[in-house]
This record gives sequence, C-alpha cells and structure tokens, in this order.
Amino acid sequence: MVKPKYNRVLIKLSGEALAGERGVGIDILTVQKMAAEIAEVQAAGVQIALVIGGGNLWRGEPAAAAGMDRVQADYTGMLGTVMNALVMADSLQQAGVDTRVQTAIPMNQVAEPFVRGRALRHLEKGRIVIFGAGTGSPYFSTDTTAALRAAEIEAEAILMAKNGVDGVYNSDPRKNADAIKFDELTHRDLLNKGLAVMDSTASSLSMDNDIDLVVFNMNEAGNIRRVVFGEQIGTTVSNNSQKEK
Ligand code: UDP
Repeated sequence: MVKPKYNRVLIKLSGEALAGERGVGIDILTVQKMAAEIAEVQAAGVQIALVIGGGNLWRGEPAAAAGMDRVQADYTGMLGTVMNALVMADSLQQAGVDTRVQTAIPMNQVAEPFVRGRALRHLEKGRIVIFGAGTGSPYFSTDTTAALRAAEIEAEAILMAKNGVDGVYNSDPRKNADAIKFDELTHRDLLNKGLAVMDSTASSLSMDNDIDLVVFNMNEAGNIRRVVFGEQIGTTVSNNSQKEK
C-alpha cells in the first residue's frame, strides 16, 4: 500500500472555498463535498488540523476602510471564522470523522478553547481539529493563524487550498495569460518577489519555523489526497528549494 508523504498536516481553507458557486456565505453542499474529501484523507492515517478563513462572511480591512473601527471589524471577522468552523465540523462528523473545534477566543458553550496539548491529543486519537477565531488578535489573518498553529502542533506542511488557482505564478493568471507557474519556490523568494500567496507575517513565520507550504487548487476533486500522497501538483514553498521554474 502506498504510504502518505505526510503524517500531520494543517489544511488552510479560505472562507470563499465554503461559498461554492454563490461566492459569499456558506453553501452547505460545498462544505459537505469538501468534508468527504478531507475525511477520506484522514482515513488513510493522516493527522489533520484545519484553519478556515472568514472572507466568505466578512473581512476586517474593507470594513475599516469604510469607517468602522478596525479592531471591532477584525473581531467580527474572527467570529465569522467560527461559523465556518462549526459548519465544517458538523459536515466532518457526518462524514464519520470525530472532530473538535478549538477557538482562540473562549466561547465554552460552542467550542473548546485552544489548548495546544489537547489539540495534539485529539490529533493523536485520529480526530480532526479545527482552529477557529484566528489568532484571537486583531490585525492578523487566518493565513498567519495557519502558520502559527502549524508551528505549534509541529505539522509537517501547510496545505494552502486555493479557490480556482492551481499554484503560485509570477503574475495573476486570471489577468495575464502569459503568467508562469512555479513548481518550487523558497520562502525567501516568496517574500522578496512579493508573490501574493499569503501575507508577509504568515510567510516569515513559515520561513522562520521551516514549515513547507503546498499551494494547490481546491476546486479539483482529489487534490488534497494527491498532495498528501506526494504527487507533484501545485507549488511547493520551502526553505531549500532545489530548482525554480
Ligand atoms: N482576523 C483577525 N485576526 C486573526 C484572523 C482573522 O482579525 O487572527 C479577521 C480579519 O478581520 C480578517 C477576517 O478575520 O479579515 C477573516 O479572515 P481572513 O481574511 O484571513 O479569511 P480568508 O481570506 O482566509 O477567507
């Protein structure tokens, strides 16, 4: 039997991935489809933690630009990520995987508070852990949350599931037909070239903690499995890329 490449991964889903065709809000059928795919990979013996963004519901920055207090706007965004986490947890449970939500802002009636040791224990027991409410602090993103939690749980890689984009390009492939895709990159290249994969805080955290990133298209069924089993898809970002294309 082919063994997975990774034993423990953190999957980062943007909030938009939960919106399906609608583009905003939560489309339950889309979430259930994703959950089934994640459950299948978990069944292969891979420990999985999830960080889900909130951009399908709310983003702090534009609300602040429109005049809202930034901190209040960011707390609103963090609460949005908890809604996404609860819906995904339900779908994973229904797909047969024991799942726990841990939030960076305590809300004990709804979810467990984030406790690293407990998260590790859940993972070891084969439960999926979803980290909600971001880092718990304003001015951060869920990409930074993913980098932080991945370091804390010693994940081998962050799987950055993108909505419709199949890797990292030298320019936006949706705007530029000549955009070139990178198969491999270093974290430093990502920062130096200003490639918009994740924000710079998340990027430098991944670099400093030597966490690999695999950027791939979530909209293609079976891709999580492909990445976890080491198929070369998307773009791999690490500290020691051998080649750049
Ligand atoms: N957010 C925050 N601190 C965090 C994580 C998220 O303040 O540690 C807020 C921020 O307002 C952000 C929103 O939550 O705009 C939604 O998260 P994000 O934009 O990262 O979601 P994604 O783009 O991945 O869907």
